[in-house]
Amino acid sequence: MSAQRIAHWIWWSGAAPARAARGLLLPFAFVYRTIMSARAKAYARGWLRQRPLPLPAVAIGNLAVGGAGKTPLAAWTAAFFARRGVKPGILLRGYRGDEQAVHQRLVPGAIVVPDADRLAGAEKARAQGARVLVLDDAYQRLNVERDVNVAVVSTESSPPRHVAWPLPAGPWREDWGALGRADVIVVTRRRAAVAESRALAGRIAARWPEAVVASVQLALDGLAGLRSGRRVELAALARTRVVVAAGIADPVSFAAQIRALGASVQLMAYQDHHAYPPGDVARLARAAKDADYLVVTEKDAVKLRSRWPADAPEPLVAELALRWELNGAAVERVLEGVLKTVDKQTFLAEENPFEAMMERFDHAAKLLNLDRGLYKVLRNPEKQIIVSVPIFRDNGEVEVYTGYRVLYNTSRGPAKGGIRFDLNVTLEEVKALAAWMTWKCALVNIPFGGSKGGVVCDPTTMSMAELERVTRRYTSSIIEILGPDSDVPAPDVNTNERVMAWIMDTYSMHKRHTVTAVVTGKPVEMGGSLGRREATGRGCMIVTREALATLGMSLKGTRVAVQGFGNVGSVAADLMAKEGAVIVAVSDKSTALHNPKGLDVQDLIKWVKEHRQLAGYTRAETITHEQVLTVDCDVLIPAATENVITRKNAPHIKAKIICEGANGPTSAAADKILEDKGVFVIPDILANAGGVTVSYFEWVQDRGGYFWDEETVNRRLEAILVRSFGEVMAMASKHKVANRIASYIVAVDRVAAMHRLRGMYA
Ligand code: NAD
Repeated sequence: MSAQRIAHWIWWSGAAPARAARGLLLPFAFVYRTIMSARAKAYARGWLRQRPLPLPAVAIGNLAVGGAGKTPLAAWTAAFFARRGVKPGILLRGYRGDEQAVHQRLVPGAIVVPDADRLAGAEKARAQGARVLVLDDAYQRLNVERDVNVAVVSTESSPPRHVAWPLPAGPWREDWGALGRADVIVVTRRRAAVAESRALAGRIAARWPEAVVASVQLALDGLAGLRSGRRVELAALARTRVVVAAGIADPVSFAAQIRALGASVQLMAYQDHHAYPPGDVARLARAAKDADYLVVTEKDAVKLRSRWPADAPEPLVAELALRWELNGAAVERVLEGVLKTVDKQTFLAEENPFEAMMERFDHAAKLLNLDRGLYKVLRNPEKQIIVSVPIFRDNGEVEVYTGYRVLYNTSRGPAKGGIRFDLNVTLEEVKALAAWMTWKCALVNIPFGGSKGGVVCDPTTMSMAELERVTRRYTSSIIEILGPDSDVPAPDVNTNERVMAWIMDTYSMHKRHTVTAVVTGKPVEMGGSLGRREATGRGCMIVTREALATLGMSLKGTRVAVQGFGNVGSVAADLMAKEGAVIVAVSDKSTALHNPKGLDVQDLIKWVKEHRQLAGYTRAETITHEQVLTVDCDVLIPAATENVITRKNAPHIKAKIICEGANGPTSAAADKILEDKGVFVIPDILANAGGVTVSYFEWVQDRGGYFWDEETVNRRLEAILVRSFGEVMAMASKHKVANRIASYIVAVDRVAAMHRLRGMYA
């Protein structure tokens, strides 16, 4: 018999020896609790110092015997942060793995760290990318600082009536006075005890008026097969014989929920964190054979999954979900406050350009005074699709890749956004890029929403035939959402004209007729637009010219440095040189070149065509990659990748204008430095919007079946970008904000206006 089992028996049993033991233990329990209360007071008075955690933290703890619903509440809190794009780290005290696995399943994006030492655990979570902490079962631990204390109080966790001399609820944990430390007090309850929980919440609210008092119901939300994952309707349990096995501290209330569905229930209760030795598993398997269903909790399922005999009927795993009954919105507001304490300037933005982007959205939303409901709508993607993409490799083996497509917002028109093939593709990244596309299309006022997609694969290890199979299978898996009126892909990282042609063909084969307008960035011969290849670089040239004009300068004689000599960078450099600019530095992955008197761009383009990289070019001096950013020049064009201008190099940048050809090249911390220095930044969603604008022209031409000459394309592109540039300038001076925020205001306002006009279908 384990020590835990003995403790459980002493605590709960009505048997005389257990009562006697409790009688003996009572004084110790009270002494222990008195010491804990004194310790709490010492912390409250500042006699003992709490050590600061490296991240904002929400501590969640039971103020009662376990089983109150702390785990689902911690998971709900973590999911709340994850939904807002702030990666949560869940710290556990180091249980036997069951809670860790449950959290991981409930909040797939979370970092779950079991460690009894909170500081060490917090550091581990931070190292893995967490930006906010949820301390599970930590309320009573006072040695570390936290931003919000959440106390979980349960009506059902008070000792059963038969227990004479009950040990005080949670003697090893808290006394009720500890509720005074809570910012949020959550009363949980089982189905049967509505009145009781309301009354308790009322009493608590009267006693601790400072705290947000909320109540919540832990409701049985679904049932899924232990191994197969097959879903079973809750209604299926009605009038059946169900065995409920539960190793949570409050199995009785769990069984009551099943009973409330109309099942006759036999309860096999174990203590919290039960280990399920072979004997217990065998007993359960036998019980399962005699019943219609065996239902276990998620925590138990973690242990049973690998041990369940193959010949026994499959248990159903019950998923418990949290439903707010009282003040759920107030709890959200408290957590929103935590989000504000996340050190966005230094921590997240520097490492994650997508977070920085949403941070700017938040700023714009605030200045626009966006109402809360609309804010919530615009902060969440409309649709997220995850597909498995099986293909035959060339050696005959089947490989399965994961593909994503996210439609962020389609209020203004069909979604528009690239598809990337890359090992680093994640759903989070795709979501953020889809949001980015939404703002970009709105900023240049073309009738598109935003989307993005990707397949997690390494195209450098795949043959052309394999790439084609991945493209076609991915296309057919998301075909329901594709279409000229619903979602129109384009090339992105590691995809090109060739890939777009395959997508167009696959889509058309399914539709039984040719649909060229389903993708943009196609070869000109099959409905692509003239001028599309040069459009992004041309756009950079146009907006730079406009920016120079506001400073009383012109392209003629202006010294320009370009990072990245690919599609965007080389075209921008070439067009600017043709307008009389002096290109003093360029770089690509292979090298960086410098000539203060001006590089011969045409010659460089010819060199790259032959050698596929700048390295080896001798008619210029070589410098380091970093020097390209800080070289003496008037205009800097980062046109390579994201996050290259950071707090480290921003102070050394000499350019007066930065034209962001790449997406997200500047971190938020660098933004601030550049702003203080008075650098004129043309933000990415404006600077590189030329590409999507001509994609729009391509779509228009495909649908009209009438194709424009290159001069018309360029003229119309110029008109749109010059107008958008002017709108951003006007907004910047109206709100006295930096260009970046001004462009988000223009964009977000347009999307919001469309939502208001259309009305909320909610
Ligand atoms: P590309 O692959 O044609 O070119 C990228 C260039 O950057 C290459 O020359 C590469 O060698 C260089 N590079 C990569 N890492 C570098 C580094 N650390 N230092 C110096 N050079 C480096 O890509 P592209 O189409 O020109 O796109 C560039 C950027 O512009 C990306 O951020 C892309 O998302 C953005 N963008 C492109 C378009 C478009 O229409 N092509 C539209 C909007 C935004």
